Amino acid sequence: MALQTSSLLVSVQDVSMIYKTKDSRGQALETIALKDANLEIGTGEFISLIGPSGCGKTTLLRLLADLIQPSKGSLLIGGKTPQQARESRAYGYVFQAPALFDWRTVQQNVMLPLEIMGFSKEERITRAEKMLKLVGLEKFARNYPWQLSGGMQQRASIARALAFDPQLIFMDEPFGALDEITRENLNLELLRLWRETGKTIIFVTHSIPEAVFLSTRIVVMTPRPGKIEKIINVDLPQPRNFDTRETPRFFEIATEVRESLRHGHGYEEEV
Ligand code: ADP
Ligand code: MG
Repeated sequence: MALQTSSLLVSVQDVSMIYKTKDSRGQALETIALKDANLEIGTGEFISLIGPSGCGKTTLLRLLADLIQPSKGSLLIGGKTPQQARESRAYGYVFQAPALFDWRTVQQNVMLPLEIMGFSKEERITRAEKMLKLVGLEKFARNYPWQLSGGMQQRASIARALAFDPQLIFMDEPFGALDEITRENLNLELLRLWRETGKTIIFVTHSIPEAVFLSTRIVVMTPRPGKIEKIINVDLPQPRNFDTRETPRFFEIATEVRESLRHGHGYEEEV
């Protein structure tokens, strides 16, 4: 198991999340978004959360990022509470939509978190340059986001999440809106970046091949209520490349993921 060779970074213990809202008639409504989740992630792992819409993937990331508080259980990041981890900038967050500011150049977008954190101008420029190079956008530093393709915009938001050098990165379906070819290229780039930087990544996806290709382990989640169905170890050798997707082992693991997704999903729920 990966955890024996690396130190524990993220721990999720018996975590449940119940959203309390009201329906259109003002009736109280409770949604169990996550039920009794347990998960341990070691430093340097690449973890994918996979499952159908509504199974609590974003909820789990938001709990870790201290954007919401659990109804039950505890979460720790490097021994800190999510609030302490947020205050010490222990992680970066990449959203499904690139969320770049249109009136700022790519470089200025990448420098934004550094500005907020009070880095000197010189340091901001040096770091932005390094990060843009890492994601292959150094030639586009002075362009505006709307002048870039969707894939390039997502690379810019990855550069922004990496700018202050957090050990941990959360990525919520970052490539979900992209075409398959762009997505496969970005998958490869992301793996290279992960190898070169030694970051720990928690990545949300709907795509079985994407999860298998990228991950060291896959957390299969099922809905109603959202729960962790199974954790699958991906023993494909590193570094992975385009040929990895053609190997028998790749298909075996993809089948295992597909079957556990199906297992947690009753037929009557196929609407
Ligand atoms: P996923 O990211 O896997 O699609 P989410 O974590 O976004 O799932 O949502 C899990 C469940 O919680 C869904 O049923 C969703 O409708 C519900 N939910 C998510 N956010 C809220 C919220 N802010 N208020 C009420 N219900 C929510
Ligand atoms: Mg989501």
